[in-house]
Amino acid sequence: MTVPKRPSLTLQRSIIPVHYNLKIVPCPVNFSFLGECSIELCIAEPTFSITLNAKELNIQTATARDHLLNGYSVTATSVSYNVEEETIALEFPQVLHVGSSWILDVTYIGLVNDKLNGFYRSVYTDADNNVHQLTTTQFQSTHARRAFPCWDEPAIKATFSLTLQAPQGMTCLSNMSVRSRTLLENGMQEVSFLKTPIMSTYLLAWVIGDFDYIEAYTSGEFNGERIRCRVYAPVGLADQGHYSLDLAVKSVEYFSRLFNIPYPLPKLDLVAVPDFAPGAMENWGLITFRTYALLMDEYGPQDRKHEIAATVIHEIAHQWLGNLVTMEWWSDLWLFEGIATHLAYIVVDELFPRWDIWSEFVKRIQEVLKHDSLRTSHPVEVGVANPTEITQIFDEVSYMKGASVLRMLNAWLGQDQMLLGLRKFIHKYMWSNANTEDLWVTLAEECQVDVPGFMSRWTRQTGYPVLSITELDDSSILVRQNIFLSTGDVREEEDTLLWPVPLGLATASDPTPRNIMMDTKEMVLKVDTTRWYKFNMGQTGFYRVSYPSKTLDLLGQTFGTGQLNAANRVGLLTDVAALVASGIAPTSSFLTLLKYFEDEQDYMVWAEVSLRLHELLAVWLEQPEPIMNALKEVQRRLFTKIVKRLGWEFPEGEDPSTVNLRAVAIRYAGRAGDPEIVAEARRRFNAFMKDRDVSALPPDLRFPVFEIVIRTTQGVEEYEEIVNYYRETFIPAEKVVALSVLGYSSSLELVRRTLAFAMSPEVRTQDILSAIATLRSSVVGRAELWNFMRHHWDVLYERHCADIGFLDYFVLLSIESFSTLERYQEVQAFFANKDTSAYDRILATCLEGIRMNILWLERDCKDVEQWLRVNGYLTESASTDSGKGAEGLSSAADPASKAISSGSVNGGPNLAVNMHGTSSGASSGTSTPSNGLQFLQAGIYSQHGTNVRSQVYLDGNGQASEEQARQLLQLQQDQQRHELRMQREYQLQHQQQQLQLQDEHGHSHGHGHSLNFDHGSRQQDARPRTLEREMELLSMSGDYEF
Ligand SMILES: [Zn+2]
Repeated sequence: MTVPKRPSLTLQRSIIPVHYNLKIVPCPVNFSFLGECSIELCIAEPTFSITLNAKELNIQTATARDHLLNGYSVTATSVSYNVEEETIALEFPQVLHVGSSWILDVTYIGLVNDKLNGFYRSVYTDADNNVHQLTTTQFQSTHARRAFPCWDEPAIKATFSLTLQAPQGMTCLSNMSVRSRTLLENGMQEVSFLKTPIMSTYLLAWVIGDFDYIEAYTSGEFNGERIRCRVYAPVGLADQGHYSLDLAVKSVEYFSRLFNIPYPLPKLDLVAVPDFAPGAMENWGLITFRTYALLMDEYGPQDRKHEIAATVIHEIAHQWLGNLVTMEWWSDLWLFEGIATHLAYIVVDELFPRWDIWSEFVKRIQEVLKHDSLRTSHPVEVGVANPTEITQIFDEVSYMKGASVLRMLNAWLGQDQMLLGLRKFIHKYMWSNANTEDLWVTLAEECQVDVPGFMSRWTRQTGYPVLSITELDDSSILVRQNIFLSTGDVREEEDTLLWPVPLGLATASDPTPRNIMMDTKEMVLKVDTTRWYKFNMGQTGFYRVSYPSKTLDLLGQTFGTGQLNAANRVGLLTDVAALVASGIAPTSSFLTLLKYFEDEQDYMVWAEVSLRLHELLAVWLEQPEPIMNALKEVQRRLFTKIVKRLGWEFPEGEDPSTVNLRAVAIRYAGRAGDPEIVAEARRRFNAFMKDRDVSALPPDLRFPVFEIVIRTTQGVEEYEEIVNYYRETFIPAEKVVALSVLGYSSSLELVRRTLAFAMSPEVRTQDILSAIATLRSSVVGRAELWNFMRHHWDVLYERHCADIGFLDYFVLLSIESFSTLERYQEVQAFFANKDTSAYDRILATCLEGIRMNILWLERDCKDVEQWLRVNGYLTESASTDSGKGAEGLSSAADPASKAISSGSVNGGPNLAVNMHGTSSGASSGTSTPSNGLQFLQAGIYSQHGTNVRSQVYLDGNGQASEEQARQLLQLQQDQQRHELRMQREYQLQHQQQQLQLQDEHGHSHGHGHSLNFDHGSRQQDARPRTLEREMELLSMSGDYEF
């Protein structure tokens, strides 16, 4: 439960910067820049050296001078570069005495890279085909050091005065307003900005390029003066910023009032940057966005409005929580991300009450609930020591579990109390730093409850519980909490954790949730079990609930009566979907529950139904064609009914959620192959492509219709029309739509073309992942993407290892949807001899996910087949023993994988992993253990509690099944080994940090004192990223072969 607070890689605190004077002079011809950095310092101990962060900077000169001791200056005689720790040590021949009037002058050369972090370059083309160059920055988390030497840690705050040189006529932006602008003789201009308030290095930012803008002012009611807000967009696109600008003005006013602190800077700019790695970045006063996260034309689809609102407001919340009060260290990142996300939902709910944004929240957290139910997850609060780890921590667990547990706290304390506490917290720590504990203590003072005791369990323990309900009689139930693992194989020693669970129990006679806190393993409650009852009413809690099937039926029967709102229905559906994937319940129970949704009206619920069905179909994708067709028929019947009801036209002034529902229904009915819908989609597609008839294809229908057309053609004509549309449109979101749908083709030729196109210079690095993500929708696409990644790994690694989130997501997209043993082993074998440090978390998560898919299929493929048969989706004549693979399998997948995937069906279930309980079994008789079974392993403790075990059985009839069983067991052992290694590393890291803390208390010696004058002992990068190297890498962009 202990979270190491002090990382091993902090700079010594005996030298502290107070102010940075920074001048950046980009060289227009060779992607380099000259930097001049004068840092005002306080030196607390006499020293001969200064160590600070720098990466890929070539230091030219470094001089320290005491500006009060006139003329006393010392020039550094050597610089040691520590590549691994991303620091430089400047060595001085004379001592630097204790004083607060030191100035360190450094001149250096750096790179304007194309890595989307540090100081980087981008380019875009406007509607008149003019090409515009631009440069910008992205410093979070540890990339300021790529632009200037600095103390690049969030707790070392300073003020900044920035001067930029840029070609005359270009827009120059930074955190603050322009102080002065001078035209130089060489066609350049020099722009200086006002001094910033005290802040962390990762929040500094600048942008240089050609932009249009629109502006508006806040009312000034809560600021004393009106704040100027602007949206900057690539030339010609500023009009698409009105929606975001309006949100910005409203949220600046909202947060000023909420926190009772005026917005702290003179202006706020929101900039759409054509190449941008994260969705958005909260740089103080200069928030940068991906273009489609900020810009939208007035006809844009409704769901993007929600995304833009959540993003813009999140970033503006950071202007106070993150920028004014900053995390002490990156381990507290989650807190500020969680709060900003939580606050954004609160504000959206106030501004747009009809959106039902909290149901959307419940939908959104499903990904993190899934992620956090794998052994490879991590606690919300996690110790991070080095920059690679910091990058990997920026994941769903930080953002969405953080936001979820805060929402749970919010429900427990009451929103008004929670917001009052937050206000108090900001006032206490503004202009400074705080950690997680500081917030809990402040909230506890405000609300007089044990907030630290409650929250530490949720933020320091990995995972979350599932509540299993056992009905004792007509009036009482036993509630039991166990850790929830989606692989379903909880071992006894893993199940020792306890969470304080707010039960939120509602019943048919009293639907107002009762706030009972469960902090024991088991609890008996008085409940009328002859009628419905529900835990986690409102879905504010971060846990799953497993009901007896009778109660699930009773709950299903309430749908349509208004007793359970959309969030609750989404919660029930997603709980059941997760329970069947983990083996706590058979998959047939999920399919049975779907019938209660037939008359569902709510878009949010339908969107979730579509996703959960998609999840099931994705795992079943390589199953025999009759099974897949039957599952598609389930989907088709559900969604075609909605299309029939809503039609294809969008009446004026229609409720936005109906707009969304129509789009999702057409998409899923068409995806399931409904012939009428496919025909109508093709008709509209042709009308649109012929003369861009927008009435045939309004923006909300573009994605569904493009997808349906691409999925149902093997020819290249329509494919090329969409590629042409991608080239032609200047609306960023439309480009992403056109790019994303290409991957839905299951023709081998088109899959290869999509890969080639995604990697071509026509597609921005930030958009490559959107282009390849959809390839996972077909067997051919999965196989080709995986082949591509293996074949071009070295080039991918060279080119993208420094891009935030690129490599790990590329790995994820290439492997996570696999569901066969063979693929699992291929993945293991491929990465076995690679340096996986930049993506080891995601790799481990993917392997665990594949293992979950394999187990799920092995366990339930017969159960699903049986359900499909009993419910009339699979006729007796539709044999599954044909040996024919699913779509495209025969044409593309290699023979080996075909043999494996059909073999498990052909030869009958030689192997069954039974996790449904020895009494019930997986409902088809063949997967229930019978006489003569050879028992290979037993005793894996399961989360059901008493009478359920997880076992691997063999029928003893064939070597193949025995081999498969061994392989499955091998997977489990691999996982255990991996886990042990992670634990050991964690303990080691923790011990080191404890030792270091003791060291620091004892003042024996601070770390970082083993200064290396000796070049021989320095960490050497095998191939330092010089300018030449950079150019060489650039030229590699066309190196993909097909
Ligand atoms: Zn954020």
